[in-house]
Amino acid sequence: MSCMQTPENPDPNPVVDLRCVLVGTQHPGNIGAAARALKTMGLSKLVLVAPEDFPSEEARRRAAGAEDVLENAQVFATLADAVADCRYVLGSTARGRRVQLQEHDPRDAARQLLARAVDGPVALVFGRERTGLFNEELQLCHAAVHIPANPDYSSLNLAAAVQVLAYEVRMALLAGRIVPPVANDDEHEAMASQAQLEGFFVQLGETLDDIDFHKGRNPDSAMRKLRRLFLRNSLTGKEVRLLRGVLSDAQRMAKLARMP
Ligand code: SAH
Repeated sequence: MSCMQTPENPDPNPVVDLRCVLVGTQHPGNIGAAARALKTMGLSKLVLVAPEDFPSEEARRRAAGAEDVLENAQVFATLADAVADCRYVLGSTARGRRVQLQEHDPRDAARQLLARAVDGPVALVFGRERTGLFNEELQLCHAAVHIPANPDYSSLNLAAAVQVLAYEVRMALLAGRIVPPVANDDEHEAMASQAQLEGFFVQLGETLDDIDFHKGRNPDSAMRKLRRLFLRNSLTGKEVRLLRGVLSDAQRMAKLARMP
């Protein structure tokens, strides 16, 4: 992270390694308006997952001076690919409290994002205009963020939601609520990346099968709860390796037990 704001040296445009990920966006105008929303808040990393119509003239028109953000936008086929290297992924959802994830309000979310950005890239993820994020996509997130809008009419326009969350990130940056990078702190251990966590979850699923944990029940509910538990606890890369070691031994023992 290149930003260290101090009272003596206020940075007018602090930056953070944060990417705004728009998933399956249907209207190109929203992509342009999101680019503009980011740039006004001093953010520049736009990532698109399977956009329906991009590049597009409508997006450029709505970017209105933020075409550079559009031009530098990266496009991925899946959300998992788009956030594989991220240390913290927040999924934004128009429907509060309906997801099986810890939920933050925007202010708290911004603080979390900046604190985790010490270890590497972090992501704010936005869903489709019509249907939001699918459950499988929300499950890739460490936590959710909900803008506490009118409960009877809580769905903001996509680019408006980007604007609100980008504003909170900027306010947190300007307020200097940043955990300083700890380059020479031996105690500090880097958080696991999204890809490391997904590798762990795959092995956890296999191990639960190997030890017949589900006993004929549908594994989905248990896996969702376990994912939530581990995602909530901010595992470091080292801790993920330790847990995978435990799983490997359990798998080895289960295999031995199955031998005739
Ligand atoms: N009809 C969809 C809403 C989509 S709005 C649904 O019911 O889920 C498009 C995207 O904007 C959402 O997926 C979410 O990422 C963001 N968004 C809209 N309103 C929001 C709110 N109140 N809080 C957080 N994100 C919101």
